[in-house]
Amino acid sequence: MVGFPVLIVRLEFINGDRYSAKNKRKMLDVAVAQLPRETRKKVEGLARSNPSNKKDWIVDVLRTNGFGIEIAGEGHLALFVEGSRVNHNCRPNAFWRWVPSKMAMEVVALRGVGKGEEVAHSYAPLGYTHEQRKAVLEPWGFQCQCALCSAPPREREIADSRRERILEIYQTLSKAADLESVERVDQLVKEAILLIEREELQPQLVEYYAHFARAYIEINELKKAREYIHRADDMWLLYGGEEHENVEGMAELWKLLEEAEMEAEDD
Ligand SMILES: [Zn+2]
Repeated sequence: MVGFPVLIVRLEFINGDRYSAKNKRKMLDVAVAQLPRETRKKVEGLARSNPSNKKDWIVDVLRTNGFGIEIAGEGHLALFVEGSRVNHNCRPNAFWRWVPSKMAMEVVALRGVGKGEEVAHSYAPLGYTHEQRKAVLEPWGFQCQCALCSAPPREREIADSRRERILEIYQTLSKAADLESVERVDQLVKEAILLIEREELQPQLVEYYAHFARAYIEINELKKAREYIHRADDMWLLYGGEEHENVEGMAELWKLLEEAEMEAEDD
């Protein structure tokens, strides 16, 4: 699914105090008034978190439905009418991405979506525990009833402990030089990948593969580092497309590796 935002507002405009609440309202009202009638109706029909505050309805609609995007390095909220109707699921089968050159948002399937299965993406960052998700989803004013959230407590606990363990491994690998052996790093990498797969958090691999690569660079296992940078690159392309948000980050990682490889040659 591809859609185009009907309204894009700088985060600074909404959160900052450069304009009074009254002026913000005025400007946003002008923007909304200029939308085609059909679109305006759709915008007015979008969910709100605080419906009793009628005056600031458009700010409420933006906060409740807006997608966080970056334009020229600055945070913006974009209102994307079709995209707002895609529901939340803590184990999503889809995700959305912003394609700057097309000014478009794409909702992309993460895996095969079965007939009659609802397409859903996660409003909360992936990998959060039950309590963390509850806290993040609170502003949307609903209690998640997805399969993961309504699973028996024991199952939820298992999921939570896996998620905590994934994060713990990430932190341990941040100090890979402190680990006593290459085998230990290998073990942790393997364990993290297994847990990520069990929890169906594959999009997180973009970050984890890069992190594994950094850990291997740190302990001078450059072949393995190269392999994981390649994997991270592939994942970024798969999930983010050509214009993914971490092109610079990946270039830096390649540079880091190449420097380490040159140093190794000199020795
Ligand atoms: Zn849920």
